[in-house]
Amino acid sequence: MSDAVSIARDLIRCPSVTPADAGALGVLETRLKAAGFEVHRVTFSEPGTADIDNLYARIGGEAPHITFAGHTDVVPPGDETAWSHGAFSGEVKDGFLYGRGAVDMKGGIACGVAAVLAHLAAHGGKPRADGKGSISFLITGDEEGVSVNGTVKLLQWAAARGETFDHCVLGEPSNLETLGDCIKVGRRGSQSGTLHVDGVQGHVAYPHRAANPVPDISRLIVALSEEPLDHGSALFQASNLEFTSVDVGNSATNVIPGQARAKFNIRFNDNHTQETLRRLVEERLVKACGNRIRARIVWEPSNSNVFVTKPGPFTDLAVAAIEEVAGRKPELSTSGGTSDARFISSYCPVIEFGLVGQTMHQINERAAVSDLEKLTRIYRGVLDRYFAGA
Ligand SMILES: [Zn+2]
Repeated sequence: MSDAVSIARDLIRCPSVTPADAGALGVLETRLKAAGFEVHRVTFSEPGTADIDNLYARIGGEAPHITFAGHTDVVPPGDETAWSHGAFSGEVKDGFLYGRGAVDMKGGIACGVAAVLAHLAAHGGKPRADGKGSISFLITGDEEGVSVNGTVKLLQWAAARGETFDHCVLGEPSNLETLGDCIKVGRRGSQSGTLHVDGVQGHVAYPHRAANPVPDISRLIVALSEEPLDHGSALFQASNLEFTSVDVGNSATNVIPGQARAKFNIRFNDNHTQETLRRLVEERLVKACGNRIRARIVWEPSNSNVFVTKPGPFTDLAVAAIEEVAGRKPELSTSGGTSDARFISSYCPVIEFGLVGQTMHQINERAAVSDLEKLTRIYRGVLDRYFAGA
């Protein structure tokens, strides 16, 4: 059994369903300490949420500093009797490692740890034989839940200690079908709001004494949905505004309602910031209202900004390492939902590359043993190139 498989199996055997740790971070702590890492276990709390264990481990004191990020918490197993192999058994059968977290993302973390340990062993126990360079692990137990006591606070804690990161690899399952098909280099931002339209309530038989907000909100919805926000950018698809509900709250058939509101969400690309996006939508609203319709937008707070790691030396070396092992050139993608990369991107360039995501969050979540071995070799290729070029 390779190191990656045995570390992944040990992690899976800890039933760390968010927010429980169940010994998962201890598995990493033991292995990293033995290899010479300085390991910190940090617990964060916040009223109304569970206390969460996190781990930060570093070897080396100098730049360049590459950090491997991830989470050891997992989603619940669902109906455990429906699993062909126990959800927390870490069983290997017919070339697959079974268990909750096998791909999301205990398997990815295990490959990172196995690659780093092999890299250190090959370089006299240091990131680089000349003693330069640093490698760290930034691991949280709070990604699948509310994400309050996890990566955000761990990054703040590290910054307060004077830690600086040059680059980050997040081992989330980034591949859609086959190992090597996709590196995630960014994500769209997300912003929600509610459109409020004020009319004048009245009797349906006397519409001239009322102002019906229903036709007006319909016009505004069409106006705001119709005109594209942009036409995409080099790495992103076009931004999109989508209305998700329309509500008048009127149960009477003989009353013209006084108000109407509609909720919407925008997924936006790097043509915008939250501020410029809000301004653009509000300008369009003013235009669509003319001097007749009375409407306003109430925006919801959002911590989901767009981010992108532009193609350059760091993405190039990852692409080269993947091509060498997987025999295919990965696409640089910005699709999909959010991850902790959105928080890490405020500190250093981050890419997401891990296992194949097909079975994540499903019954019988599993990772191919051959993929675990390949991903370990890819991470080693990243480390070799990273420290050779430093
Ligand atoms: Zn995940």
